[in-house]
Amino acid sequence: QKFVYDFTEGNKDLKDLLGGKGANLAEMTNLGLPVPPGFTITTEACKVYLERGTEPESLRAEVSEHLAALEERMGKRLGQADDPLLVSVRSGAKFSMPGMMDTVLNIGLSDASVAGLAAQAGDERFAWDSYRRLIQMFGKTVLGVDGELFEEALEAAKHAKGVTTDVELDAADLRGLVEEFKGIVAKETGRDFPQEPREQMDLAVRAVFDSWNGDRAKLYRRQERIPGDLGTAVNVCSMVFGNLGPDSGTGVAFTRDPASGHQGVYGDYLQNAQGEDVVAGIRNTVPLAELERLDKASYDQLMQIMETLETHYKDLCDIEFTIERGKLWMLQTRVGKRTAGAAFRIATQLVDQGLIDEAEALQRVTGGQLAQLMFPRFDEKAEAELLGRGIAASPGAAVGRAVFDSYTAVKWSRSGEKVILIRRETNPDDLDGMIAAEGILTSRGGKTSHAAVVARGMGKTCVCGAEELEVDTKQRRMTVPGGVVVQEGDVVSIDGSSGKVYLGEVPVVPSPVVEYFEGRVDPAAEDADDLVKAVHRMMSYADGTRRLEVRANADNAEDAARARRFGARGIGLCRTEHMFLGERRELVERLILADTDAERDEALGALMPLQKADFVELFEAMDGLPVTVRLLDPPLHEFLPDITDLSVRVALAEARQEPHENELRLLQAVHKLHEQNPMLGLRGVRLGLVIPGLFAMQVRAIAEAAAERRTAGGDPRAEVMIPLVGTVQELEIVREEAEKVIAEVERATGTELRLALGTMIELPRAALTAGQIAEAAEFFSFGTNDLTQTVWGFSRDDVEASFFTAYLEKGIFGVSPFETIDKDGVGSLVRAAAEAGRATRPDLKLGVCGEHGGDPESVHFFHHVGLDYVSCSPFRVPVARLEAGRAAA
Ligand code: PEP
Ligand code: MG
Repeated sequence: QKFVYDFTEGNKDLKDLLGGKGANLAEMTNLGLPVPPGFTITTEACKVYLERGTEPESLRAEVSEHLAALEERMGKRLGQADDPLLVSVRSGAKFSMPGMMDTVLNIGLSDASVAGLAAQAGDERFAWDSYRRLIQMFGKTVLGVDGELFEEALEAAKHAKGVTTDVELDAADLRGLVEEFKGIVAKETGRDFPQEPREQMDLAVRAVFDSWNGDRAKLYRRQERIPGDLGTAVNVCSMVFGNLGPDSGTGVAFTRDPASGHQGVYGDYLQNAQGEDVVAGIRNTVPLAELERLDKASYDQLMQIMETLETHYKDLCDIEFTIERGKLWMLQTRVGKRTAGAAFRIATQLVDQGLIDEAEALQRVTGGQLAQLMFPRFDEKAEAELLGRGIAASPGAAVGRAVFDSYTAVKWSRSGEKVILIRRETNPDDLDGMIAAEGILTSRGGKTSHAAVVARGMGKTCVCGAEELEVDTKQRRMTVPGGVVVQEGDVVSIDGSSGKVYLGEVPVVPSPVVEYFEGRVDPAAEDADDLVKAVHRMMSYADGTRRLEVRANADNAEDAARARRFGARGIGLCRTEHMFLGERRELVERLILADTDAERDEALGALMPLQKADFVELFEAMDGLPVTVRLLDPPLHEFLPDITDLSVRVALAEARQEPHENELRLLQAVHKLHEQNPMLGLRGVRLGLVIPGLFAMQVRAIAEAAAERRTAGGDPRAEVMIPLVGTVQELEIVREEAEKVIAEVERATGTELRLALGTMIELPRAALTAGQIAEAAEFFSFGTNDLTQTVWGFSRDDVEASFFTAYLEKGIFGVSPFETIDKDGVGSLVRAAAEAGRATRPDLKLGVCGEHGGDPESVHFFHHVGLDYVSCSPFRVPVARLEAGRAAA
């Protein structure tokens, strides 16, 4: 097995093996772009290492071979005393994990070679600074020394000299620091900083392997649902230096604006600096356009390379580059992360440029991004106290209490507070806090700083580089010069789309994308927002491509009308129990507790017209489209008085010797019906079977409402759905009763109603006997909420609070099965039931109405198992439409 690939041997399609960085370095090398030579150690080598705890036997020899070739090519040996070859060792997994893995630069420097580097570069200060950086990075990431110790020593050296920036330290100062750093390493690790270049390299490679299983990396993978067994590749690349003087520098660039998607030149450049300085946001960069003034030749070359890359990758690329004494080097490229809005704009731009087709465009956006664009924004007209302005790094409107460290962010958010994490700049140690926060605000760093990159990846609101705000994390406050002081706990609002930071809570307004879905803005209008235009186009691509229909879960006319505006083609689930809450709850209580037929009939008689009126409205709102009405399925306890309250009332009345006969009677009845497991108790079809007349009343209400609409010239398409069926016999009984009622109504009103009768599949037994059940059902709707509950034996109402966090932390699943369908378990039942049902009844209509119907990943699954439609909450309808299109594209 081959574990090492030269950059000339790989290509961009080998990401599994070479990681994203390695594959793209190879691709750029093959494109003839200026990439410093190097090689990549594969993810396979990492996997072997992680499994066995040692590197594969052949790795050492293979690395030696590639290193020798590299040395040959560069005309110098790694760490050679008079002219050292130096290399960087960088991690690079299949999926980019910003800030998660380790990088060590300047490997090969030692007491012996530092003078050689100084002589070659003609710059003593540079050589000592490089050595100082090596010990610092190596000490921190490879040897596990607390990075603060180095920072403190550096600060102390500056302080002693009375200067404020690193640049003001001279060669002698840095040489002193090197000694100090070596002392720190020796003290903290009990060993000397390794002087042997190959040992440095091997240790660094191993540290990269190990960092795959670092806590932060694991947390990030869980967040992003990246499998834990992919491993990382390691790139060994000959060093080029951006810190060799004013004609050197380093930068990050995007081929388009990753925040808005607009075309143009975007990036940050830092003169006389090494790569990590930019990403860490430690010094403030200048806009890339400045480079044109500083070094026109390199700038022009860079522009040309960017164009090459964009045309080659047919997508937005981000780039890291270094200029060493006027010579441009490409250190990295990848298809760049972007905001949701940019994703939509870029996808349509690329179609217009003829670079991609519509099907490909659909792969460039996600339902998650669309959902983000539907978030509300700050009301521009609201009075708000502006504290300052930073860079709009990741859009959204976030309001929360100011916190100044990750720990507090996590603690407060656990107790239900919304927080804004405010830092001078962030680094990977802040990841927990960033996840916990509503939004992130930093006072330093550009669009490519850690905070910006990570926040965009998480879809979290971020304003960075708000330089006028003085952040003091020790005192836990932020100061606007000459003005307000924001203390920990004060509410602030940050706008990731404009970069503005406000004091207090700013009211929010709906997003333009929602306004578009609502039909309040016309995407064809000339002055329409270009985001709206892009979304409109992508939606029409999706609608033109998808096979799945999208319906909505709605139980009132208002939701139905909205769902329809959002593109729903019917209602897949109307939960009638929602119609019985509020003041009607008492009628249901009377029905359930009725002792005599007369009492029961009276309650039913009172409910019937209310139900009918509800349905008339609903059928009108969805005229011409199917409306699936589910018969009553309450967990019974929701409709009965609380047993504890009632007991207290009875006890009090008794103590006060007040009359309490009614309460007592009620209490006895409630006791009789009290269930330990209401979710597995008297609900769904079971309720209909034991309470005479209940389902008949509901069916009558549906039928009469439909007849009324028909008479009024409408086109009602009602479907009657029976919940929680476990066996075909249950369904047959209800069906007979329902058919009788429908026939009566048809006769009485002289209309033909053609009501479809079907069932939910939400119990394992129903799924397992779906072939039989289909004999009595014209349609199935998978109730994946209950199906998940019963397949896993997880209580829907309890698990999320009780043990899911532990399950997620242990990686038992990457996401709650109540959120994304568990394909292997619940999903395989859905698949089998769909097949069995269709075998019995080829025209059986199949849908899903659990929460999964609006979840992007689940929508793809339902497409692939051949369902006819998904049904989800009205706000998720556009997301489901888009994902259904993506699944079919
Ligand atoms: C389901 O169980 O998936 C379902 C849609 O029904 P409910 O959530 O109302 O139980
Ligand atoms: Mg259910």
